[in-house]
Amino acid sequence: MSVKRIFAALLLLLMAFSANVMMAQQMELPIDEAVRIGKLDNGLTYFIRHNNYPENRADFYIAQRVGAMQEEDSQNGLAHFLEHMAFNGSEHFNGEGHGIIDFIQSIGLNFGADVNAFTSFTRTIYLVTNVPTTRQGVLDSCLLVLKDWSHGLLLTDEEIDKERGVIHEEWRLGRDASERMNNRQRDNLFPGSKYAKRDVIGSMDVVDYFPYQVLRDYYHKWYRPDNQALVIVGDVDVDYIEGKIREMFKDIPAAAPDAAQVEDYPVPDTDEPIVVIEKDVEQQLSIVNILFKHDIVEKEQRNSVGYVVMDYMKEMMSSMLNQRFQEKTQDADCPFLQAYAFDSSYMGANTKDAFYLIAVPKEGMTQAATQAVLTESLRAAKFGFTDTEYERAKESYMSRLDRQYNEREKVHNRTYAQKCYSHFLENEPMMSIEQNYELMKQIVPNIPIEYINQVLPELINLDGKNLVVANYNQEKEGAVYPTKEELMAAVTAAENAPLEAYVDNVKQEPLMAKLPKKGKIVKETYNETLGYKDLELSNGVHVQLKSTDFKKDEIFMLARQRGGSSLYGEKDWANCEMFDNAIEYSGLGGFNNIELRKALAGKRVNISQSMSTYEDYVSGSSTVKDLETLFQLTYLQFTDVTRDDKNYNTLLNQIEISLKNKDLDPDNVFTDSLSYIMGNYNWRSKPFQIEDMKNLSYDRILEIGKERTANAAGYDFMFVGSFDEAVIRPLIEQYIASLPAKKGVKSNWVNVDETPIGQTIKHFSRKMETPKTTMFITWFDKQMPHTLENSIKAQLLGKVLNRINRDKIREDAGAAYSISTYGQSSLSGDNTTTSISAYAPLKPEFTDMAIQIVNEEMIKACETIDAASLEDFKKAMLKDHETSLKENGYWYNIISTYATRGLDLCTGYEDLVNAQTPETIAAFARQILSAGNKLEVVMTPAE
Ligand SMILES: [Zn+2]
Repeated sequence: MSVKRIFAALLLLLMAFSANVMMAQQMELPIDEAVRIGKLDNGLTYFIRHNNYPENRADFYIAQRVGAMQEEDSQNGLAHFLEHMAFNGSEHFNGEGHGIIDFIQSIGLNFGADVNAFTSFTRTIYLVTNVPTTRQGVLDSCLLVLKDWSHGLLLTDEEIDKERGVIHEEWRLGRDASERMNNRQRDNLFPGSKYAKRDVIGSMDVVDYFPYQVLRDYYHKWYRPDNQALVIVGDVDVDYIEGKIREMFKDIPAAAPDAAQVEDYPVPDTDEPIVVIEKDVEQQLSIVNILFKHDIVEKEQRNSVGYVVMDYMKEMMSSMLNQRFQEKTQDADCPFLQAYAFDSSYMGANTKDAFYLIAVPKEGMTQAATQAVLTESLRAAKFGFTDTEYERAKESYMSRLDRQYNEREKVHNRTYAQKCYSHFLENEPMMSIEQNYELMKQIVPNIPIEYINQVLPELINLDGKNLVVANYNQEKEGAVYPTKEELMAAVTAAENAPLEAYVDNVKQEPLMAKLPKKGKIVKETYNETLGYKDLELSNGVHVQLKSTDFKKDEIFMLARQRGGSSLYGEKDWANCEMFDNAIEYSGLGGFNNIELRKALAGKRVNISQSMSTYEDYVSGSSTVKDLETLFQLTYLQFTDVTRDDKNYNTLLNQIEISLKNKDLDPDNVFTDSLSYIMGNYNWRSKPFQIEDMKNLSYDRILEIGKERTANAAGYDFMFVGSFDEAVIRPLIEQYIASLPAKKGVKSNWVNVDETPIGQTIKHFSRKMETPKTTMFITWFDKQMPHTLENSIKAQLLGKVLNRINRDKIREDAGAAYSISTYGQSSLSGDNTTTSISAYAPLKPEFTDMAIQIVNEEMIKACETIDAASLEDFKKAMLKDHETSLKENGYWYNIISTYATRGLDLCTGYEDLVNAQTPETIAAFARQILSAGNKLEVVMTPAE
């Protein structure tokens, strides 16, 4: 339909205005030359790319061009079931202690974070990432894992039976309100399409009872070399990997000549509007989705300049429309709280796209909100966007492009890997960053606003053809829901409403009209151990500087002081709870929030102010180019927060609606109850409820903000990243040494800790739509000091217990889809807490059993720790630490903790990890347990 038309017109336009090199290349896009692409005789495709960010690491992927759409009805859910079975026994990784999970753990990888798999309608992707590359044997073994996934899964009866429970629990976990409502409507949303019959997780009747052979049939029918691609990216020798692949994978048989071919399943066009109205008692917000279905760009045409240009134009259009939506929400009479536009695949189908308009209506205003988002969109379609809006959108785009180009040597393996498999699966472009940069630098300045303004009118079509209106509501007694007729009447009303053009109001002033009087750097010292400079400024402020080259274009700033909400009493509780949000919704330096946003368009910089119980923070980040803007924003955050009543009211509306129905979601009830119990029912730990809103005062929040920033000398400032010292020093003198400060005066916190000591056991039940139990158990010690050693021990103990709990509760009993057990040592104000905790959503029948396992294993850990398991996790921690040492975010925490608390959480890390033995960890477990503090909170479904 119409989109094809623009597409064709665009190609002609591009040809006409640009007769130069790149465009003349028959519009085909170049392919990243650093990627070695090949295909074996049996049809297996491979992509190999060298990349040394991070050093000595590589990622291994296998992408299958098949998913839930390839299932027969008797196999509904088995594409995903098969993905789980890939970890339960294969030709080379079989048996107790020899499985794929055991192997990957033995090389220091984490199941879940480093090794995982994903199934969708049309693809299944498996990955082993962050593999250490220094030993060739490890690389060979990873290729062997990929080989087993492609062709060597055992799929034994016993393992299949064990996995049924796990998948059933995954289904239970995913059955939230939106999942339930969407499932009820699949037939209506996908009339005449196989997409109506599949949802990836599948039918539990199939999952619980399918005959073994049905799964094996799916595997052998679809997992074949012609449907598979290997992707290996990282610090590897490309020739070596290629040779290995050719040798190891050549014997996998090719598909038989009459083998079934992967088909795409169409989503037919519809002549009449589809209107869907759904409700669910656990749904928290009303939502209206207005979708305009349209054809996809055919795979064969995607690797083209036209496709990239089309993408750019749609992105510009959506971002400008979204800005207008946001501005609109500030009008007191705007019927929606939020609205958002984007173009994407139609509900996950790969054969149909849709332009989405999504609105969150104010209560009871669904019809008006539907009309309003359409009206705004029609306004933009009719009159177009303005030059100034486009200028800003373009600047943002270009600054992102520049940043990407500047960081081209620091691209993570996974980013390259995704490009490779998307190219294989969907023929998405696979340009290098340089190629993309060169191309877009030529294209962007040559796309005038007139072209962009043609996009929206082509996408929005109100004649009812391919229109889908889907409305989701919160179900409660006495509620009135819109009817189909009313929703369609809103569409017609928008179509017939008189429209006026949008006026773009922009404040044409510099962020700071006048610079403050400069101060000086008066003293500097160097910290040898952690490698940073400490500057003392003339106003008494301290600044820590660590210049790094981990990234080329990334600078982080953090300023923190003692104080926080601990200094405020119960009457300010609500104001403190809402402090971060209210400040974020305010303006700076005389600019209101929207004006500020517009003034910062094209700059990659952000700033925020916040408070925790014990500390105050001002933090931000920027690129090298925008560093001075970051300094100006910081100065203004300390001296000139601008009230913005309109935007504050928008915030109140949003908070009100989110609080109103918050308790409908059982997960929220659990989290709120847990924090309240952990705070010993003190008012400070109370869940924020709608009735607390009456205690909010914007005046008071702004006043608290002023109090928190009145004395910059209370703060330590820190900068980490790719700055040049010669550039940053004058900026520090100009904007930080000039901040109002009382030299030598520091604020402090007040201790307000009320954690219940001893044994606290709370079990409660609650009515829920899909019954599940949620369990949280923690043992803690408040005496043990917060040190690097204790932190390492706690983490190791947590990891060892996590493996045991996962094996027993998930793998053996099928009682949970996931369980997470973790240890940590933390410092909050003057309070240290060292703890071991376990959290899991459970199958209700297995609640007691799971609680018993968690308890028993903690007691057993006091006696013995499995040595092999401990060695695996030591390896994993050392490997992760090595990676962290080259990340700005890591140093941000380390230096800031050292500068403000005198705690060095870095030096000696390797030695401390290596020093741990089963005995030291068991002794540590005894110490935690003997502290005698335990908290157990369990929420079960009510009858
Ligand atoms: Zn799964």
